[in-house]
Amino acid sequence: PSSMFVDKVSVIVRAGDGGDGHMSFRREKFIDHGGPDGGDGGDGGDVVVLASRNQNTLATYRYQKLLNAESGKAGSKQRMHGKSGDDLVLKVPVGTVIMNEKDEVIADLHQDGERAIIAKGGKGGFGNAHFVSSVRQAPRIAEKGEKGESMDSVFELKMIADVGIVGLPNAGKSTLLSKISNARPEIADYPFTTLRPNLGMVDLGEDESLLFADIPGLIEGASEGKGLGDEFLRHIERTRVLIHMIDIYDEDVAKSYQTVQNELRQYKVDLTARPQIVALNKIDGVDAKTLIKKQTALQKVIPAESPIMTLSAASGVGLDELLYEAKTIAQAQVAAEAEAKQNEVPVIRMPESADTWEVEKVENHFVVRGKKIERFAARTDFSSSAGTQRLRDIMKKMGILHELRRKGAEAGQKIHIGNHGTVEF
Ligand code: GDP
Ligand code: MG
Repeated sequence: PSSMFVDKVSVIVRAGDGGDGHMSFRREKFIDHGGPDGGDGGDGGDVVVLASRNQNTLATYRYQKLLNAESGKAGSKQRMHGKSGDDLVLKVPVGTVIMNEKDEVIADLHQDGERAIIAKGGKGGFGNAHFVSSVRQAPRIAEKGEKGESMDSVFELKMIADVGIVGLPNAGKSTLLSKISNARPEIADYPFTTLRPNLGMVDLGEDESLLFADIPGLIEGASEGKGLGDEFLRHIERTRVLIHMIDIYDEDVAKSYQTVQNELRQYKVDLTARPQIVALNKIDGVDAKTLIKKQTALQKVIPAESPIMTLSAASGVGLDELLYEAKTIAQAQVAAEAEAKQNEVPVIRMPESADTWEVEKVENHFVVRGKKIERFAARTDFSSSAGTQRLRDIMKKMGILHELRRKGAEAGQKIHIGNHGTVEF
């Protein structure tokens, strides 16, 4: 069904190829060939992901396995540039993470409107008009367009819930969510009724609300794939508070608690480090003696910083107190995060690769600086045309010629490589 919740898809994204450069010569009277006039190819479009608040699933990408951006058009005669390909903009829900085939995160979109290029379009090739120089009056060279990047990727939606509700199957998680929010999760007295995490916005008054996620039952061995596995825990990787629900009818409530804690601990990020409220549920049917006995058993295994609260999700007893506690902890977390951010020393990441370079226009010439290109320049004999030609080829491979053209360099103009020597564009 189209309403099915989809939170993980694999797709192949492919940026557009650059258009080929054209080779042609002006027609002139009396001579076969006039000057070269082949235009450049257009750049290929990028594949871009855009986080949008109006998007809430990745279902759109379930059947579309190949996503292509448009390629650039080839250049043509009379120095006509080929048209650039349009970018392909993929709308995804806020909270989507994009990974490549090696499982490396290449984009992590937290905010509405945030965008990232995940596959770069190929650059258009130069037409032969670009290769004129004092030594080459009639170049018979035109470049091919560069191939666009392509990637096998995984889009995964990590919902950013504020509060995660965890516990063994049947503890009453879905009942709780249905009582405190307008979410209507399935409720039944058999395990694994919840096959997907349910989300519910909980109104806390004074313009305050928190997003709660009901995480399907965790059983012993979930981290090894038993039951529903721990697949769903990724939805609470970013929650600020966990409500750990325990069924008071469990024979050994301390063991129930520890079973879930072990699964939370074995998840790839230790989720037991998250602030946690232990909620002993279904107190409506038990006598005072049993209640105290179960509470005492829990206190023995629960760390001092985790409050234990008693409630009846079904009848509503204790829910206000639980929500108040959750809200207080969440607010304290937000404040702590804000403070941590302020104390963070801003790090400016400098690209360290030797491949980086920059182009600057100085008066009527250009200067290129960069470790790698200057190293080549240092080894170049600038008085030999073969030498400077090789340097130009390297500059082309590195994309420097393209950038020079973008910055307005014209045929024959002088390009200084650091202070090693000069080539002509
Ligand atoms: P989940 O598997 O943790 O989501 O548990 P459910 O919310 O589906 O509840 C499991 C069973 O426990 C259902 O039959 C509920 O009606 C019952 N239940 C939930 N909360 C309470 C409660 O506070 N008191 C009683 N007596 N039963 C409850
Ligand atoms: Mg449930």
